[in-house]
Amino acid sequence: MTVVRDVPKQLFIGGGWQDAESGRTLSVDNPATGEELCRVADASPADGQRAVEAAVAAQAAWAATAPRARSEILRRAYDILIARTEDLALLMTLEMGKPLAEARAEVAYGAEFFRWFSEEAVRIDGGLTTAPDGRNRLLVTRQPVGPCLLITPWNFPLAMGTRKIGPAIAAGCTIVLKPAPQTPLTSLALAAILTEAGLPDGVLNIITTTDAAGVVEPLLRGGQIRKLSFTGSTGVGRILLAQCADTVIRTSMELGGNAPLIVFDDADLDTAVEGTMVAKMRNMGESCCAANRIYVHTSIAAEFASRLAARMAALTVGDGTEPGTDVGPLIDLAGRSKAHDLVSDAVKRGATVLTGGQLPEGPGCFYPPTVLTGIAPESQIIDTEIFGPVAAIRTFDTEDEAVTAANDTEFGLASYLFTQNLDRALRVAERLESGMIGLNTGLVSNPAAPFGGIKQSGLGREGGTVGIDEFLEYKYIAVPVG
Ligand code: ADP
Repeated sequence: MTVVRDVPKQLFIGGGWQDAESGRTLSVDNPATGEELCRVADASPADGQRAVEAAVAAQAAWAATAPRARSEILRRAYDILIARTEDLALLMTLEMGKPLAEARAEVAYGAEFFRWFSEEAVRIDGGLTTAPDGRNRLLVTRQPVGPCLLITPWNFPLAMGTRKIGPAIAAGCTIVLKPAPQTPLTSLALAAILTEAGLPDGVLNIITTTDAAGVVEPLLRGGQIRKLSFTGSTGVGRILLAQCADTVIRTSMELGGNAPLIVFDDADLDTAVEGTMVAKMRNMGESCCAANRIYVHTSIAAEFASRLAARMAALTVGDGTEPGTDVGPLIDLAGRSKAHDLVSDAVKRGATVLTGGQLPEGPGCFYPPTVLTGIAPESQIIDTEIFGPVAAIRTFDTEDEAVTAANDTEFGLASYLFTQNLDRALRVAERLESGMIGLNTGLVSNPAAPFGGIKQSGLGREGGTVGIDEFLEYKYIAVPVG
């Protein structure tokens, strides 16, 4: 494949492409076939340290670069990303599995973070006020936090990178990016695009590695990284927060979710089924915002479940590069086993399978769209992020019952609710413990909105007008009134 051949396969450090010091490489596989696509450099802790040193060396000049210049680099990179949509989409489909149509949508979504933050780079504000006692002027300015470590997952290989790189560049921070080992190619392609757009050497450095724990910990303990922005599981997030505590590194944490989706008896059923398809099936369900627990009012539950099952059963599962594929493979066999084990556990405890639920034969990490009803409350699927195309439906009778069940989780990223009653919509939205709520829609992600969770789903927000704040420090200068 030309798109794979054209991507650099080395570490990107100080503006140059380099092999890992050890000469080791890691395998990038196509989850649709199980075959190796190519190999890329597999960094050791020493390589990671060189990347940090390059970021540190570039920091002062980058912070002093005019905001307009930073903005225009991002805007040029946006234009290149859009112009290369087809190549980037194919690359993502090959290394991650999502169907081409979804990969194209991710290019549009991911690129938009660059356009959005190109606009924010020139709007970093400050202030000059007088203290209440009249004796001091309070001059407030904002400065980049410094060299950042960005760690991204595999489910949105482009957008998870641009959502962090965009605001870091806009704010004047230098970067070491560590993408997930399953999907390094999109990040490496992105580095080449940012270089083409004029990003100075050392501002972005990329280390690909199979030894995330071994490479990252010394970098966080080394005292040179000033900020960690992480997207991934809550378990790893906790480990990283503990490591950051020792050197008091600022953190942004986008962690796991367990999104409830509530369908009230006054919902428009077509809208609810359509919204559930999006909330459940976007990215094969491999999204931290994916609807994980579906609560439907008892009076409409049978109708809703049969309509959802019909829609799910009609989806075409296959290689994401094939036209007509709706559902690609899961990321790897471990991801597929996890989803299937959750289904088996629910069935063992009495759930009914309306469609799907069988492990397919043959190569690739495919799993069929699955709808389950009658889930017993102690089933593991209620408390576990499924990360697969499995819809688990439960019923409720009262609004209180629905809200209590929805909030009965340590997570608080996204929630969805379907109702045509405005009072109820606002009342329930106010009570739901999550950072984002889809009201009569199954899609909450938007570069112009603050993305993030509460409870153990994370700290901080990405995107929106607040996204750049995560990469800026306030500095206040006291000036006596003369
Ligand atoms: P997932 O289960 O979706 O792969 P993870 O939280 O394991 O989610 O991974 C998200 C990102 O965090 C990936 O880039 C991964 O390599 C990285 N990662 C995993 N474990 C660690 C760790 N101990 N320290 C630093 N990064 C890690």
